[in-house]
Amino acid sequence: MRQRISEETIEFAKSVNVFDIAQAIGLPLEKTGKSYFTNCIVHSEKTPSFSIEPGKNRYHCFGQCHDTGGKGAISFIMYYEWKKYDETLFLQAVEKVCYYMGHPVVYTDGSRIESDRPVKPPSQFRERVDSPLAEPQMITAVYRSLIDKLSLKKEHINHLRFERRMTIDVIGLRQYRSYPERPYVIAGEINQEFTTLEGVPGFYESVRQDGSGTYWNMSGINGILIPVRNEYGIVQGFQLRVESPKLHPIIEAVNDHPLHAEISDTQILTVHYKKKLIYSGKVQDSSKIPITIAGQLVGNVRVKKRNKYIWLSSTEKRKGSKVVPTYHVAYPPNGMPDGSTIDCSVVDITEGPLKGDIMSEYTGRPAVCFPGLSQWYLAVEGAMKLKPKKVILSIDGDAIRTIHNKDTDEEKEEAGEVVRSLIREFAAEGVSIDLALWDITRSSKGIDDLYISGMKPKLFSIIDFSK
Ligand SMILES: [Zn+2]
Repeated sequence: MRQRISEETIEFAKSVNVFDIAQAIGLPLEKTGKSYFTNCIVHSEKTPSFSIEPGKNRYHCFGQCHDTGGKGAISFIMYYEWKKYDETLFLQAVEKVCYYMGHPVVYTDGSRIESDRPVKPPSQFRERVDSPLAEPQMITAVYRSLIDKLSLKKEHINHLRFERRMTIDVIGLRQYRSYPERPYVIAGEINQEFTTLEGVPGFYESVRQDGSGTYWNMSGINGILIPVRNEYGIVQGFQLRVESPKLHPIIEAVNDHPLHAEISDTQILTVHYKKKLIYSGKVQDSSKIPITIAGQLVGNVRVKKRNKYIWLSSTEKRKGSKVVPTYHVAYPPNGMPDGSTIDCSVVDITEGPLKGDIMSEYTGRPAVCFPGLSQWYLAVEGAMKLKPKKVILSIDGDAIRTIHNKDTDEEKEEAGEVVRSLIREFAAEGVSIDLALWDITRSSKGIDDLYISGMKPKLFSIIDFSK
């Protein structure tokens, strides 16, 4: 029986621009204005009359063909390979597009076929398939429905109870949920309440394998969904705490050598060159492995651990949207959901919504959390909504870590800079600032672990406007 091709692979093939596939095949392309001309891929000719317009992702034969023309790489490859447009060739066309782009074809049972072509990096013409964000009220309503429909698995309850020391009551109040095993069932149920889920981060439209239509789906993996709330307690999004973040390889090939790397669940890295195994070995997070053939360097494989916390998002998926990162306001359980009865004169500032939830239970104060170090400024925006007189900066010891910036390829220590920036911004708002410090060698390194183990940080006054 033919294996089913995964959604991701189909979405990839759909996102490929005609110009990119023509380049990957190796067709000679002559630029004329906004278009490129080449010999027709269907009829034979001596003067190029076949046009490709990258900006519109379209192609057309102005020569002898009457109806050769269309949009996107999938139909293009049908004409190129089979000299006709035929829907029944859809899946074979998807495989061909992946092959030429040097992209693996992944099947729903996890098996994959690697392409032995060099990986073609996406060009500026890559199709962006994100939809604009839905109205905030719509997103709120969909997320409310999602929380209603999901439950919390036993293993996740156990994690929150025994490792995070939360009571069943608090777990219930915070509305943590498990990412569903059959996300399309949940998405389908929610879609019955709304006309569309377009533009709601986390949801996207899947196309049926046989091309007979579409259905709504969710984008995520097994883990705990942590509601991210604003100052009114309204859910703005979800962070997903991933069970076991996988290691993944980043290939840095020398001279476009066609390298393919994979890391198994047992952390074994295998590297293939033209379908031949050239490297196999156990790897760890942040190792960098030089790959050689007959003593000659053909590239490096850098090993990265994926983040433990990711946003529920459906960027680059059909009718999906990218999440807009936001702050999280954690009120102590007795002040939930909207915090209207809570004294907000002193507010804790920390990284990560789950950490904030735990802290506020012990401190009795609201905690405002930024999602990641690079988005520290969101904490200022969130905290000022509560009009505090003082903030306590509780930035974890493990936050002082090396940050690798993908864009500039720079490694730098960011936490110290974040603390300085927070001090500067809060001081400018006229808010007093305490810095929380604790011994990370004696207790666990996280501020939440510190509170859980019955200790408190030492507070140092940085700026005091009350005098
Ligand atoms: Zn033609």
